[in-house]
Amino acid sequence: MPGKDLGTWHVRVKFRNGSGFIQEWSTGARYGGGTEGTSPLGERRIEPSWKTEEDVLRTMFYMFTEGNYSCDCNRRLFLDWAAQRERPENGHACGNELELEELTAIAPDGREIPLFVFGFIAK
Ligand SMILES: [Zn+2]
Repeated sequence: MPGKDLGTWHVRVKFRNGSGFIQEWSTGARYGGGTEGTSPLGERRIEPSWKTEEDVLRTMFYMFTEGNYSCDCNRRLFLDWAAQRERPENGHACGNELELEELTAIAPDGREIPLFVFGFIAK
């Protein structure tokens, strides 16, 4: 069963070295970006994935702590994008030097929801 459009969220990602970025997190329908062999103009509509706010928050947390965005290779690409720097042709090396300091979800209405704070363990 498809999810619903829960608005445009953001996630603020701060690293322990002081760098970071704010990433847009759209929850509505979207289209893929194409691949090397397929034109983006041929992409099909992808229905919303999330049913509730909790689903969105769980996915954000997962992506930045264990998922694809937990690796330096992707984190450094996001930093490049945020600073409007050109991305290196062969990407960045994998690693875990960029440690999270804080991860904060920002709801469409501006509410800020802490997802992760370095050194803090929720009870
Ligand atoms: Zn990697």
